[in-house]
Amino acid sequence: SVPLIYAITPTYSRPVQKAELTRLANTFRQVARLHWVLVEDSTRRTELVSRFVARAGLPCTHLHVPTPRRYKRAGLPRATEQRNAGLAWLRQQFQQRPRPRPPPAGVLFFADDDNTYSLELFHEMRTTRKVSVWPVGLVGGRRYERPIVENGKVVGWYTGWRADRPFAIDMAGFAVSLQVILANPKAVFKRRGSQPGMQESDFLKQITTVEELEPKADNCTKVLVWHTRTEKVNLANEPKYHVDTVKIEV
Ligand code: UDP
Ligand code: MN
Repeated sequence: SVPLIYAITPTYSRPVQKAELTRLANTFRQVARLHWVLVEDSTRRTELVSRFVARAGLPCTHLHVPTPRRYKRAGLPRATEQRNAGLAWLRQQFQQRPRPRPPPAGVLFFADDDNTYSLELFHEMRTTRKVSVWPVGLVGGRRYERPIVENGKVVGWYTGWRADRPFAIDMAGFAVSLQVILANPKAVFKRRGSQPGMQESDFLKQITTVEELEPKADNCTKVLVWHTRTEKVNLANEPKYHVDTVKIEV
């Protein structure tokens, strides 16, 4: 059957959260056989996200794990614990004892809540056999970054930032088959020793090699996902105390 796509999305409370999740759900709802794994960066499931998930109209698992306070600092990687919680949940789904069965076909993808995803991207990633890669727009201080492909193989990276990275690719630029995730049960995102921008490389090193990567999006010549970032909202005129006659969730 058609491989199921698991989209793991870390998310945290802020004024634009519901707007971001709405945009994301509007995209995901148009993708067949997609399971959304939404992982809140919080000590509990919030009411806002719980309500949202209930009405999202797509298959969704709602998890939560807080980022330890010491890691909530500029310059440190974001959402490490949340992506790992998503991975742990996924592995748990297919952990069967005493008689393991081969897992169904599946593809895992890390979908940050503020990026922009074309529907074509999901067609491309669905045929991932082990680990697939593609260009990402608006990232790394350039219009795009992309894997450089020769004779169907990735041979390098077009990037403007830290070209020494073993996999010079953004989180939005790859997908992994469920089989590879289950075959490498210890592969996780690391806090210890992880430098900014090395999350992807540190993770991919544990499960694949550059030679093995499967280029998608016409040999990595098309941008189907954009690393968009939402402007911080101006709340300068927000009243100090609640003065409206109604209480509204935004
Ligand atoms: N995120 C999170 N907790 C945080 C900061 C970010 O869970 O404290 C999530 C965020 O919602 C997004 C992902 O982690 O899905 C990446 O964060 P962001 O978009 O801020 O990173 P950038 O675009 O700068 O790489
Ligand atoms: Mn982002």
